Amino acid sequence: MAKISVLAPQVANMIAAGEVVERPASVVKELIENAVDAGADAVTVEIRQGGAAYIRVTDNGCGMDPEDAQAAFLRHATSKIRYEGDLDAIRTLGFRGEALAAVAAVSKIDLFTKPPAAPSGFHVSIEGGEITEAGETGCPDGTTVVVKDLFYNTPARMKFLKKDSTEASYVEAAAEGAALARPSLSIKMIKDGKEGLYTPGDGNMLSALYAVYGRDFTRQLAALSGSQRDVQAGGFISRPSFSRANRGMQSFFVNGRPVRSKLLTAAVDQAYQGRLTGGRFPACFLSLSVSPSAVDVNVHPAKLEVKFAREREVFSAVYQFITAALDSADPLRPEPEEEREQPRSIQPEAPRRQEPVLKTGYRPRLFTFPESRPQGGEPLKSSGQIPYQTKFQAADAGKSPASPAKPAQPLQPAESEPPPALKPRGKEAPPRLEEPIAAEKPTDAPEFRVIGELFATYILVQTQDALVMIDKHAAHERMIYNRLRQAAGGGDGQTLLAPQRVSLSRREKEVLMENQPLLTQAGFGIEDFGEGALMVRQTPMYLEGEDAGYVLSDIAGQLLEGKTPRAESYEKILKSVACKAAVKAGGFTSREEQQDFVARLLADPQVRSCPHGRPVLFVLTRGEVEKQFKRTL
Ligand code: ADP
Ligand code: MG
Repeated sequence: MAKISVLAPQVANMIAAGEVVERPASVVKELIENAVDAGADAVTVEIRQGGAAYIRVTDNGCGMDPEDAQAAFLRHATSKIRYEGDLDAIRTLGFRGEALAAVAAVSKIDLFTKPPAAPSGFHVSIEGGEITEAGETGCPDGTTVVVKDLFYNTPARMKFLKKDSTEASYVEAAAEGAALARPSLSIKMIKDGKEGLYTPGDGNMLSALYAVYGRDFTRQLAALSGSQRDVQAGGFISRPSFSRANRGMQSFFVNGRPVRSKLLTAAVDQAYQGRLTGGRFPACFLSLSVSPSAVDVNVHPAKLEVKFAREREVFSAVYQFITAALDSADPLRPEPEEEREQPRSIQPEAPRRQEPVLKTGYRPRLFTFPESRPQGGEPLKSSGQIPYQTKFQAADAGKSPASPAKPAQPLQPAESEPPPALKPRGKEAPPRLEEPIAAEKPTDAPEFRVIGELFATYILVQTQDALVMIDKHAAHERMIYNRLRQAAGGGDGQTLLAPQRVSLSRREKEVLMENQPLLTQAGFGIEDFGEGALMVRQTPMYLEGEDAGYVLSDIAGQLLEGKTPRAESYEKILKSVACKAAVKAGGFTSREEQQDFVARLLADPQVRSCPHGRPVLFVLTRGEVEKQFKRTL
């Protein structure tokens, strides 16, 4: 081992920067926090090129005198705590005195600051942690920090930055988080010269939500509030008719600080259990106040996590606040079990949906059941899988397969000519199960008889030598997905007679517009429709216009995660479409449709697993059955 030496402050600062300053968004987060701690009630955030080139944060807070303006950049220089004991009850967002030093170590900073009482302002320039200029200057009350060329001296860090639009979207997310955390703070965002987010700072979280997510979204939120022992909460949650494929619309604030918390997400999940189908997440904006001594905010380098002293108390309080809010948001709510089966639509009837016109000139009968569609009015809704199943069960009950009035189905599917759309393009479907019967009898579809349905989920089919269980949803999904893929590039879609207005958050809309070519390729026709909205004029085949919003927000969520390589984004879009369209096709209106469906499925060896890899069918051979009954030797 070599001799130990204490690192020079500049090196130490760069190490700290590695923890605190991950990307432009972290700089913006720290600067906004400083503004809040300085008592500002209005902040402007300007960025250029995703923030890596330029970040400006201007506040109307208390400002700094010349001495503090220079000391602020020293490591562990803070005005917010003084003694060890202060760490036990932190009331400010900052407290480590680390952020400005860390940012300064990896960028070029200009600071302009003036306390309201001071006759003039002060300016400091810093490059790579060294003060290069300092002196009096004229400037408005408050503080402006300009950060240029982030990571100019740490190329390794620079390489980890994503493309400008993605970084910009993270910055916006940070600004949105700050705005929701502090509804009394007015935030204005300027991105490459264009105005973005603006929150009024009127103290009302709903106003901030409105600014971030738009009118349609905020309309369906339910207010939440409550107080239990040391925990006070306020905020908004989505009704169960709304859901997302990820947690992108869940934000938690503890004492005005946006935080991530497994404890809080778990409480939310539990409160929504039985109200949402698996894999779907509610929107939730929850602001908690707890005594500063009951929460440790010093557990994460970027202060993104907190630790509660009494976790169980917080968990149960949050759980109860949410369940109470959900219950009172819907006083007519039936038993949870029932609701899962049958979300009622208690909204006034929406105008009847216009029938979409297919460019291709036909409507694939299998996937459209106009009579069974509920007339819901919400633009974004939960998976909707259940109502159709319920409907189907009801329809099925009247004509049970066992009913003597109904003769057994013929072994050959009736009128088995599938609609052209569902036949694989360009080749005759080789009709073949893995079972030998198809080989023996190479007709267009293997012989089979539909026995009935199991658990309203699986179709039971008898072939010559086997029992086949088909997962309806998985099979539908795969068929639609295959079809969409075959149409790929053609932009095959259906023009909507009634274009659908879809409301989205600013970032969701932006990421969709950026990926418009991919969406067009998948069959979507979308247009920018002003603040927080898109107009959908065309949807991919099989996707109902009214489901466009659901699928687009799902896709936006995935794109915003930024993890998917571009090549896979397209596949994901198709999967999203197929999944939703398949859910819609959850019920059959008639025996013939079921028959058709099975015929097509058995004849198409491409349909054996769903796009997510789950199997579509399960075969139990006669031999296996006989073995169970010990009929074989
Ligand atoms: P911390 O916020 O943890 O104290 P920072 O490095 O972020 O550490 O800031 C150092 C100090 O600089 C703060 O304690 C505060 O006194 C001062 N300061 C930073 N930003 C501002 C601002 N926008 N207005 C007034 N004072 C500020
Ligand atoms: Mg700070």
